[in-house]
Amino acid sequence: MAGLSEAGVRVIALSWVDNAGISRVKGVPLDRLPRLADHGVGMSPVFDTFLVDDSAASADGHGGPVGDLLLVPDLHRLTHLAAQPGWAWAPADRYSQGGDPHPGCHRSFVNRMVQTAADLGLSLRMGFETEWSIGPGGLGDGPAYELSRLADAGAYLLDVVDALTAQNVEVLQIHPEYEPGQFEVSTAPEDPLNAADTAVLARHTVRTVSHAHGLQASFAPLTTPSGIGNGGHVHLSLWRGEENLMHGGTGPRGMTSEGEAFLAGVLRSLPALTAIGCPTPASYLRLAPSSWAGVYRCWGWENREAALRFVTGPAGTASHCANAELKCFDQAANPYLVVGSVIAAGLAGCEEALHLPEEFPNDPAHADSADLERRDIERLPATLAEAAGHLEDSAVLRKAMGDHLFGAVLAVRGAEARLFEGRTRAETVEVTRSRY
Ligand code: GLU
Ligand code: MG
Repeated sequence: MAGLSEAGVRVIALSWVDNAGISRVKGVPLDRLPRLADHGVGMSPVFDTFLVDDSAASADGHGGPVGDLLLVPDLHRLTHLAAQPGWAWAPADRYSQGGDPHPGCHRSFVNRMVQTAADLGLSLRMGFETEWSIGPGGLGDGPAYELSRLADAGAYLLDVVDALTAQNVEVLQIHPEYEPGQFEVSTAPEDPLNAADTAVLARHTVRTVSHAHGLQASFAPLTTPSGIGNGGHVHLSLWRGEENLMHGGTGPRGMTSEGEAFLAGVLRSLPALTAIGCPTPASYLRLAPSSWAGVYRCWGWENREAALRFVTGPAGTASHCANAELKCFDQAANPYLVVGSVIAAGLAGCEEALHLPEEFPNDPAHADSADLERRDIERLPATLAEAAGHLEDSAVLRKAMGDHLFGAVLAVRGAEARLFEGRTRAETVEVTRSRY
């Protein structure tokens, strides 16, 4: 408290992410921190059923006006907000008033999956890439990845890096992305819970820095009907102690058998995982072929059109660098649901000692359809309703999440698919843009 007070902090923002992928918050004055850490602060469970437009899905056993939950800060991640003077931030776990973890709490879902892996002697390192767009007439117009876009956007991007660094988030790279006014920052791999927390903090930081520059950042899957989307790619590697299981084995591209089985489990569950990582109808407008969004269920070494891109890094670094990147997900996704579900799908692959199919070395959109069929390579679900159907059928994800959380996610996906029925592409993008 003394440190935060010295840094000028007066209020703590306590946030959690709902099933629609929106971060919700309560603010508590710093001098109440001891009480907050012990007893939390109240918040209605109705948010478990909230949709992207703040309407609520009706679902048995969820939502409604009755009851309360406690938001309890994880003090390990408590940090001042460098770009929002006077404020600190902490991610919240949600508990019942009796002190039991709320069965719909996403952070406790991640903790359960991390523990399941740990029971097998396994751990994971994960990291999210953060892409965002600022509105028309903003900074950084010009060609993709163009150096001169830094002429006007350089000071802005520097503020993003400085704020993240001051909050102990390790930045790996930052650049102007494909679209005018689109940018990306990547942060270092961490354990799964911290990776999801960092994704929340990174977005909030970008948003706040943007605001200070008079700009509005959007992390929505698509921000213009004809544009390129914002992805929320997830990097992951599986470890046994100090050994990276993505390297040093006799499997494809040097994977160990466990590393291969984990990725095979993820690939197998990808249609169901799409309902987690691409959670809103606008997500499916982003999932276009040949735009580096990885819309085919296949894997390939350094293949940016495969949903699962395998990366070995510069020669000699694979022992710590080798990892896989899930390219199909976006940032409408709740990052805790993403990491927890990916771990569950991967561990199921390990349990069954699955093998990966042959890798695919090209853009599947340009491949012969008979070849794709022979290799069992299909497009990921084309609509939220289709993805939600795969999720509903996923025994692996149902068991991992537990009936309460699984039921809430399915209710939200179903209601959101219905909410957007009959809307045009432009309307869907318009409604979604300012929500993420
Ligand atoms: N913006 C692309 C997407 O929608 C990704 C570009 C990249 O690979 O960095 O996922
Ligand atoms: Mg990118």
